[in-house]
Amino acid sequence: MALIVQKYGGTSMGSIDRIKNVAKRVKRWHDHGHQVVVVVSAMSGETNRLIDLAQQISKQPDPREYDQMVSTGEQVSISLLAMAIKELGVGARSFTGRQIAIHTDSTHNKARIEKIDVQRVQQQLDAGNVVVVAGFQGVNSEDDITTLGRGGSDTTGVAMAAALGADECQIYTDVDGVYTTDPRVTAKARKLSKITFEEMLEMASLGSKVLQIRSVEFAGKYQVPLRVLSSFDEGKDGSFDDDFKNNVGTLITIDEGDDMEQPVISGIAFNRDEAKIVVRGVPDHPGIASAILTPISNANIEIDMILQNLSTNGTTDFSFTVNRTEFDRALDILNNEVKDDINAKEIHSDSNVVKVSLVGVGMRSHAGVASTMFQVLAENNINIQMISTSEIKISVLIKEQYLEKAVKSLHTAFGLDREDGESQVAGL
Ligand code: ADP
Ligand code: ASP
Ligand code: MG
Repeated sequence: MALIVQKYGGTSMGSIDRIKNVAKRVKRWHDHGHQVVVVVSAMSGETNRLIDLAQQISKQPDPREYDQMVSTGEQVSISLLAMAIKELGVGARSFTGRQIAIHTDSTHNKARIEKIDVQRVQQQLDAGNVVVVAGFQGVNSEDDITTLGRGGSDTTGVAMAAALGADECQIYTDVDGVYTTDPRVTAKARKLSKITFEEMLEMASLGSKVLQIRSVEFAGKYQVPLRVLSSFDEGKDGSFDDDFKNNVGTLITIDEGDDMEQPVISGIAFNRDEAKIVVRGVPDHPGIASAILTPISNANIEIDMILQNLSTNGTTDFSFTVNRTEFDRALDILNNEVKDDINAKEIHSDSNVVKVSLVGVGMRSHAGVASTMFQVLAENNINIQMISTSEIKISVLIKEQYLEKAVKSLHTAFGLDREDGESQVAGL
């Protein structure tokens, strides 16, 4: 018998029929004698619909009220799933984040989980019931509802698995694993049977939304065995035997393995949410970077890539990127609080940019990855606007219109294409 935490995303919970299918899968695991905790997202489109309602009232809704409202999508889906499981003759109980309780800090809209009380869940499991938990939400020390940021149900799933000491956390979604790149961008993307936490963390932080970054951080920190797999597969599951362990979905592993054939690049991530700001003609003297960036950071806006040009005639151009959702706010701050103080000539902005990144632990031991990347982009007439690197990744900022071309050509150049070129993902 194993204790399994399963998380089902919005598409997997997207209709009554799909919820009934999830219930059948949960029952199969339960019938095999496993204890099952299910974490679910809101039905697909529901969270967007709720956010849209709030934004019709205020451009920047009150964070507490926003969480109070946007968390309701998950409350609907937990109860529907618990009903569907009971209809199949299996005992089930649904709980909101507050009922459990999933304790978080008070940073509304992107709260962090601090502690989970597992007694209530454990009691239900011991009584032979399936426990259905609302993803994406928690409760703070004031007894107010908080939410964990978009895609946060992944993090609820992993955190529940860590708190319960589960044998595995299974993230069921609309693709059957983690691919070398988003299979929606190239049919030649290949499914990875395993990927290291370190690489998955980079992929997630560089834009691969298949897992929320915090969920990967959590899984790495608490060593939760984590697997991504499809809720649409009718294949064999429910047994958790060696066959399942070795063959299904993508396993996120700690082990880098001693595979001599370790590829240099494991995957290509991209992020469409970038926006670039260029502060032109600023005097080039000590303190200028801080004068530009401190007011932005003080407003809690995350800065991503940074570039300072060589100075000519004592002035320089200073460029950086922020998330598109924070772009207007960053521009307001620069125009109203910074521009005149630092004597900048002009503030230029461009939101039609994307970041494309190569990720791979194999990069550590291979030189020449960057030069190959730049050469491939040059051959495709794609201009690089900014570059950033770390030990296991190289990112470039390019025009949005070249995203697909860049990903496809890099995918081929780094030997990531699947041989038959056919998509493995049904419906894509
Ligand atoms: P869910 O609603 O189940 O949480 P998401 O939409 O958040 O699902 O994540 C699944 C999606 O992630 C896939 O449909 C796919 O388009 C996208 N994705 C991005 N990068 C990758 C990747 N490297 N491998 C697999 N899927 C990816
Ligand atoms: N429903 C939330 C969202 O759409 C959380 C999640 O699906 O993980 O972001
Ligand atoms: Mg998701």
